[in-house]
Amino acid sequence: MYQVAAGVNNVEYRRVLLNKSFDFTADSLLQATDSHTRLIFLCSPNNPTGNSLNREEIVQTVRRFDGIVVLDEAYIDFSRQASFLEELNLYPNLIVLQTFSKAWASAAVRLGVAFARPEIVRIMNKVKYPYNINQLTQDYALKMLAKESRVKRWVETLLRDREKLWKRLSALPCIEKLYPTDANFILAGVTDANAVYQYLTDRGVIVRNRNTVSLCAGCLRITVGTPQENKTLIDALERMNLTGTPCTPLKRR
Ligand SMILES: *Cc1c(COP(=O)(O)O)cnc(C)c1O
Repeated sequence: MYQVAAGVNNVEYRRVLLNKSFDFTADSLLQATDSHTRLIFLCSPNNPTGNSLNREEIVQTVRRFDGIVVLDEAYIDFSRQASFLEELNLYPNLIVLQTFSKAWASAAVRLGVAFARPEIVRIMNKVKYPYNINQLTQDYALKMLAKESRVKRWVETLLRDREKLWKRLSALPCIEKLYPTDANFILAGVTDANAVYQYLTDRGVIVRNRNTVSLCAGCLRITVGTPQENKTLIDALERMNLTGTPCTPLKRR
């Protein structure tokens, strides 16, 4: 989406590949910038890999970059890492993005939040449309914010279910690797991503096929669902092994 937004605004976009552990260094990232670079986008916890980026490298990037760093924290509620919000005061060139779409279970409301120092907010207020978030959405947001403790309980439930799902997945022969996650999904390396994806889709279980994403060849992104949904997924994968689809043989060999 960052690339789409850049394209719509006719802005050059440069992609910097993460390393094999889905992490980065400030050095290699800053090497891809030049004197025209205005913005750096970082996503932590990252989608679709699920890991949080190295905190010290984020700090180094913000400190050393002569422009604005946008840190996308859409998945921060599920993370063991602390948000950068508490440290916003230290970084005049940092914008932190959060959203009601994930832990707050309100994706269809289309409400996100940008946090930054007043100097940046003043500039954003100058270039934004004069209209504000509509009244219905504002009312909804206030109602949700009043329920923060309930949202925290939802998250705790999800984290417990994520742990259970992880254990069940890791016992399956077709799962070759599970990547550490700070998000509400698990990235899984499977024996044959396209075949497993198709098999699940045919049974009404929708995961994300990330097979064609750089560094994610062979990977499916599996979102933690309700206990019933997680069970449906595991049952389907276990049955797939029995019927000898491409999931089984490689690992059993
Ligand atoms: C879901 C998500 C968002 C937030 O999307 P909304 O437009 O607020 O629904 C932002 N960044 C990433 C990486 C996401 O996965």
